[in-house]
Amino acid sequence: MARINLDHIRHAYGAKPASEKDYALKEVHHEWNDGGAYALLGPSGCGKTTLLNIISGLIHPSEGRILFDGVDVTNLSTESRNIAQVFQFPVIYDTMTVYDNLAFPLRNRNVPEPEVDRRVRETLEMIDLADWAKRKARGLTADQKQKISLGRGLVRNDVNAILFDEPLTVIDPHMKWVLRSQLKRLHRQFGFTMVYVTHDQTEALTFADKVVVMYDGEIVQIGTPAELFERPSHTFVGYFIGSPGMNLFPAKIEGSSVRIGTETLPLGFAPNVSGAARTELGIRPEFVHLGRDGMPVTVTKVEDIGRHKIVRARFAGQPLAIVVSEDAEIPAEARVTFDPAAISIYADSWRIGREA
Ligand code: ATP
Repeated sequence: MARINLDHIRHAYGAKPASEKDYALKEVHHEWNDGGAYALLGPSGCGKTTLLNIISGLIHPSEGRILFDGVDVTNLSTESRNIAQVFQFPVIYDTMTVYDNLAFPLRNRNVPEPEVDRRVRETLEMIDLADWAKRKARGLTADQKQKISLGRGLVRNDVNAILFDEPLTVIDPHMKWVLRSQLKRLHRQFGFTMVYVTHDQTEALTFADKVVVMYDGEIVQIGTPAELFERPSHTFVGYFIGSPGMNLFPAKIEGSSVRIGTETLPLGFAPNVSGAARTELGIRPEFVHLGRDGMPVTVTKVEDIGRHKIVRARFAGQPLAIVVSEDAEIPAEARVTFDPAAISIYADSWRIGREA
């Protein structure tokens, strides 16, 4: 497996990009660790597939280089990059048995037959299809076919990385959960470098140790699920990650205080927002405390979603979501306080850290 370097990569589909907005992928400059599990997460059209295809070699980037373990592979074909790919719709040879489907990529590379047998059997165990080895692939269910496709990625132990492009889209919800957990376990056990594209946050957060959040052709944050939750670098990460997402309010910074509507809150630090056209305060619904003290809010709706409730309210002329425990009492004259440590300040959508 390999360490992947994305060295000042940019990509435009048009021939002569004139400005930043002509790039489907804006500049990416990162190092991804050998053996890391990365999820590329973001809404449709944000550039996930473009980035994945640059890594696999299906697309040659307009600018920049891509390196595997320090070796420049920018001009190498997909095949010579030695990458396994698992697509949304599995590519399976229907007339072959499950066993032969898995053996195919190895036989293709002239791996000796006893070694093929050992690896195929091992992989069949991993993907839980050992009992199906002799069956023809035709007639298998969509998730069994996707398991074969996963297996074909896993059967080769010489690949630099395994790339997944929304591999669970056609799988039913329960099986999705099973396959995702299996992948996670395989990753822990064998340490493959994996890059997984999805627009589903649950999928990304359960699969990856690092989630790469993309928005409008740009990587807005790379972080662990906890980092994305606790310190979203960009307002997009704030509201895209979490359910409900982060509350955001137009805010005015006054030294080390912040003003929202008629309320002023101490921050404990003085964010430098000079030159910003727009400043906002972000607070996750889990860190808003509802009670009889603090700033007055108007409760508009209470949603009971099992282990907790989501209170929908209005505060400073904006909607505010609050997560409370299932048995929490909702006072008639409701007031809220914000956990000071959980407040983030954003200048033109980017977080201003306390350390800045
Ligand atoms: P999805 O989840 O819908 O697959 P994505 O995040 O993978 O979306 P990309 O497919 O990488 O996004 O697309 C990024 C941008 O590049 C989009 O604006 C898309 O319209 C554009 N794009 C993608 N492929 C091409 C192409 N072959 N030619 C021109 N523009 C393209």
